[in-house]
Amino acid sequence: MKKVCLLLICFVFLTFTACSQAKPLKESRFLLDTLVEITIYNKNSQDVMSELFDKIQAFENKFSKYAEDSEISQINNNAGTYVNVSEDTFELIEQSLYFSEISDGLFDISIGPLVDLWGINQENPRVPTQREIDLAKEKIGYRNISLNRENMSVSVAEGMSLDTGAIAKGFITDRLVSVLRERKIESALLNLGGNLYLYGTKPDGSDWTIGIRDPFGLQGDYMATVSLKDTSIVTSGIYERYFEADGKRYHHILNPKTGYPEDNELASVSIISPSSTMCDGLSTTCFLLGLGKGMELIESLENAEAIMITRDKKVYLSSGLKNGKIPFKLVDTNYTVVN
Ligand code: ADP
Ligand code: MG
Repeated sequence: MKKVCLLLICFVFLTFTACSQAKPLKESRFLLDTLVEITIYNKNSQDVMSELFDKIQAFENKFSKYAEDSEISQINNNAGTYVNVSEDTFELIEQSLYFSEISDGLFDISIGPLVDLWGINQENPRVPTQREIDLAKEKIGYRNISLNRENMSVSVAEGMSLDTGAIAKGFITDRLVSVLRERKIESALLNLGGNLYLYGTKPDGSDWTIGIRDPFGLQGDYMATVSLKDTSIVTSGIYERYFEADGKRYHHILNPKTGYPEDNELASVSIISPSSTMCDGLSTTCFLLGLGKGMELIESLENAEAIMITRDKKVYLSSGLKNGKIPFKLVDTNYTVVN
């Protein structure tokens, strides 16, 4: 069995025309089980860079279910009792429940037992037996996550375990954006394993051009571009993390009702919104909802746009992309935009 880990979703084309700009400060580190890359286009911003990476590390220490003493692990290890958590963890869970509500439980951070069973983020993933899947499914249910805001505590029902992988990167990104604002940074690029935030404009004042990953191509292949500023863009797809067994591909977005990787018409969903939490939550949610319901959800929300690519290489755009408010350009003619 071969595990393939493809981390980057989107590619950013940095074309600097003017030499008058200060040299950007760029740093990459492996954090949050992915490659985190931050670029700041201001002078003397090493202190901000350090602050951002320290923040990411601190969030990872709270949110990772793989860290023994993280707050999420404490909740998981004490299922059945209330555990005191920080406001960050409380809010992350609270916001996760919003996505569960709007997807009738397809998005569910209590997916932990199923994620562990498939081992998709681990060294040795495998296809479980039906019996194992049925047992894991019984443990999932966001309605059994209880929040008590008064004393900032959380409890999950016995047997349950939380996995914040579908939303944590977006949530953390929004917190990093607050730091950039506080520190009066004008232009920066946050890339948390393909979870992007294009902060401000490019230093020359123009929009960022972002490549939308070809879900059937190799890392670095893109099939379209969008022009963006001051926004986040996040993609969930069948190519990000997966393994292959008996000629079949099993990816990492699991349907809690079937217990299997979601197997609908979609190959990827990219969401554009100024809230990276919305982007991350919605990309996973819409992927699970499928093309029709997913697009309906996006159209019902303000400040969210979507690019949905089907397995038969058709591209569906939400209204803000269709009407050109966000410039979208198809570059790979193997794909067709459906109007
Ligand atoms: P990525 O982590 O590559 O950005 P997603 O945001 O789509 O991709 O999140 C996928 C991750 O979310 C999985 O690796 C797993 O940890 C978790 N997950 C899988 N299925 C679900 C689900 N139905 N609801 C919530 N989280 C899920
Ligand atoms: Mg997500």
